[in-house]
Amino acid sequence: MTPKIARFLSEQQPATPCLVLDVDRVESNFRALSAALPLARIYYAVKANPAQAVLERLAGLASCFDAASFEEIEACLAAGARPEAISFGNTIKKAAAIRHAYEAGVRLFAFDSAEELDKLARFAPASRVYCRLLVENEGADWPLSRKFGTSIETARDLMLRAGELGLDPYGLSFHVGSQQTDTSSYQAAIGRVAMLFTDLKEAGVNLRMVNLGGGFPTPYRDAVPEIDRFGDAIMGAMTRHFGNALPEMIIEPGRFIVGDAGVVSAEVVLVSRKAKDDPVRWVYLDIGRFGGLAETEGEAIKYRFATRHDGKPTGPVAIAGPTCDGADILYERSNYRLPLGLESGDRVEILSAGAYVTTYASQRFNGFLPLAEHYV
Ligand SMILES: *Cc1c(COP(=O)(O)O)cnc(C)c1O
Repeated sequence: MTPKIARFLSEQQPATPCLVLDVDRVESNFRALSAALPLARIYYAVKANPAQAVLERLAGLASCFDAASFEEIEACLAAGARPEAISFGNTIKKAAAIRHAYEAGVRLFAFDSAEELDKLARFAPASRVYCRLLVENEGADWPLSRKFGTSIETARDLMLRAGELGLDPYGLSFHVGSQQTDTSSYQAAIGRVAMLFTDLKEAGVNLRMVNLGGGFPTPYRDAVPEIDRFGDAIMGAMTRHFGNALPEMIIEPGRFIVGDAGVVSAEVVLVSRKAKDDPVRWVYLDIGRFGGLAETEGEAIKYRFATRHDGKPTGPVAIAGPTCDGADILYERSNYRLPLGLESGDRVEILSAGAYVTTYASQRFNGFLPLAEHYV
C-alpha cells in the first residue's frame, strides 16, 4: 500500500467496500515499464481500469491506448488521447463500433478472422490492421483460452488478403495470458511471429510491427519476476530473431500499470465455524465475486490481505463474499490464513487490487451497490 493510500484510508475512513487508487503509482509503473522496454510503445489496456483519472494521467505521459470497445475509445478521447494513439484491439467488434471508431479518427485495428477482416475493409478502409496469433498461455494465472487468435497458416492467408482488400497489412500480435509469470512465454511467441514475418516478406508483404500484448504481472500473494527480467527476455528474443531489422514494437499492459496502485478496503461482516471444533473459520467480507473480485474464480488470482491484527497468531480460513450465491466464495482451497483475533466490523485491506475490479462488479446483485472508487 502506498503512503498516499494509507493516509487517505486513515484520515477519510471511507465507507466500504471501496477502491482507493494512487495515480502517482500508475505513473511510476508506466515509467518502470518504459525503462525496461525503451523500444516498445505502451498501449495501456483500458479495460484493466478505465477510470478517467487513470486515463488522464497516462494521456499526459503520452501513453497510447488499447481499447476493447467504442465506449473505451470515447473515454480515451475524453481524457485527452489523440485518435492516432488508440488501437482498437478487440478482435470481436460490431460493424457499428468499427464505423464509429473510424469516424473518430482511429486507424489501427486488430482481427483474427476472415469475416472481421471484411468488416474492417468495409467500415475502416485503408486502415492499418494486425492479425492476432493463437499462442500458448502456459505460466499465466489468468489464461485467455482459445477464444482469441488464429493459426500461423490462417494468419498468413489473412495478411495477404488484407492487402488485396485495400487495408494496410501492418503487423502481428499475440497475448501470452494475463498475470504471466514466465518470461520465456514471450520468447516462444516472438519466434513464431518472426517466422511469419519472413514468410510474408517472401510473399511480398512487408510487415512493420509486432504487438507483444500484455500479461506483465503484479505481485499478489506470491512474488513475481521483476519487470526488467521481462524486458531483457523480450529484447533478447527480438534481437535474436530480427537482428538489425527490428520492427516497431507495441506492448499492451493493463494489470502491471494499475494492479499495485490500488487497494480495496473492505469490512468483515461475519466470522463463523461450521462446527465448534472445526479449525477452519469462514470469514465473510462485504465484497466478493460479484462486488468486483471476479478474478478469484477458480481461485486464480490470489490477493493478499492486511488487517489491524497482522503479526498476531493466525489460523486457516475460507474467505467468501456477502451475497446469497453459493459461487460467491473467494478462497476455500488455497490455504489462506488470517489472524485469530479477526471479528465482524474489522477492516480488511485487499492489496494490489487496482486492476480488473471496479468494472467487474455487478449492478446491485442482492441489492449491493457497485464498488465505490477514490483516486488520490
Ligand atoms: C486484456 C488485454 C490486455 C491486457 O492484459 P494484462 O494482462 O492486463 O496486461 C492486453 N491486450 C489485449 C488484447 C487484451 O485483451
